[in-house]
Amino acid sequence: MKGWEKNIRRVTPYTPGEQPDCPQMIKLNTNENPYPPAPGVRRALEALDTDRLRLYPDPAAGRLVKALAKRLCLGEDQIFVGVGSDDVLAMCFLTFFNSKKPILFPDISYSFYPVWAELFGVPYETPALDEDFRIRKEDYFRENGGIIFPNPNAPTSLLLESRDVEEIIARNPDVIVIVDEAYIDFAESPSALELLGKYDNLLVVQTFSKSRAMCGMRIGYAVGSPELIRCLNDVKYSFNSYTMSLPALELGAASVEEEDYFQETVGKIKATRKRSLKALRELGFSCPQSSANFIFASHPDCPARELFEALKREHIYVRYFSKPRIDNYLRITIGTDAEMDTLLETLQRLLSKKNPN
Ligand code: PMP
Repeated sequence: MKGWEKNIRRVTPYTPGEQPDCPQMIKLNTNENPYPPAPGVRRALEALDTDRLRLYPDPAAGRLVKALAKRLCLGEDQIFVGVGSDDVLAMCFLTFFNSKKPILFPDISYSFYPVWAELFGVPYETPALDEDFRIRKEDYFRENGGIIFPNPNAPTSLLLESRDVEEIIARNPDVIVIVDEAYIDFAESPSALELLGKYDNLLVVQTFSKSRAMCGMRIGYAVGSPELIRCLNDVKYSFNSYTMSLPALELGAASVEEEDYFQETVGKIKATRKRSLKALRELGFSCPQSSANFIFASHPDCPARELFEALKREHIYVRYFSKPRIDNYLRITIGTDAEMDTLLETLQRLLSKKNPN
């Protein structure tokens, strides 16, 4: 062993979903949006003056923060933006989870949380979801160093009711509670943003990746009290001042300014989700009631791994997690109606081969 080897920080990284280079594929594996970003985003891209790329972008991301503040009817000092919500969440871990007491997040939730906790040396505990994959709020009524959970949860797709979210926040006034709302725009329930006026320990994180169809632009944001946002900015400026590129600022703001298109595409995805859930259940799948842009599905007659591999051979990509409790489930992103029809026909064919009666 070389002397320097012992000084290397070794981590087990998060494994992102595959991004295969296959033009024919149906890609339902990373919860991307099947529709393009708002038309104004294209116009903003075409209008972008490349000469401006000579200069550093605005470190305060003013253009985007202003647009978000206006849409959310909040102060500009209540919004922090980052390179996707992954960047925002990493900054949140670094800023707010700085206690010797363990932070809490569900055993089945976004698999990046334990990676950040390990990377930043944050102790953590993972209360188990109940047998129906629901968060048990009571598990979060004990001493801890902070709380984070996705709502709706991933990969289960289940929503925790607003009153339960509020109870977790209210019972934990001495720590920061982060509600990761990557998928909230697809839920019927209101965002925890509504609670911001009541609780100074709440931080809500959202993203442009899912409902705004902008995974490729990498934009996420946190919303909280001016005090929390100031702390986040202090850490950001101690790490990388210019996180948001000029195109991200311009295109992000253009997206926020087109509310009608946003509502329309979210509505289309919800409608496709409704009929896909029904059709999957008719094929014998059991699926929790999804509040997200994906469905979590398990079939009694065919192991999920087998279905995952068989679909892949047909160039249909879904997500499979080889993890305790969920290793017999597929996570299927909602695509267009045509994509979902192909998926459903393929599943029907694969299942009838397996069980000819
Ligand atoms: N939170 C959850 C629960 C997610 O599933 C994802 C998507 N992988 C993210 C955050 C991060 O998304 P992004 O960085 O694209 O905003």
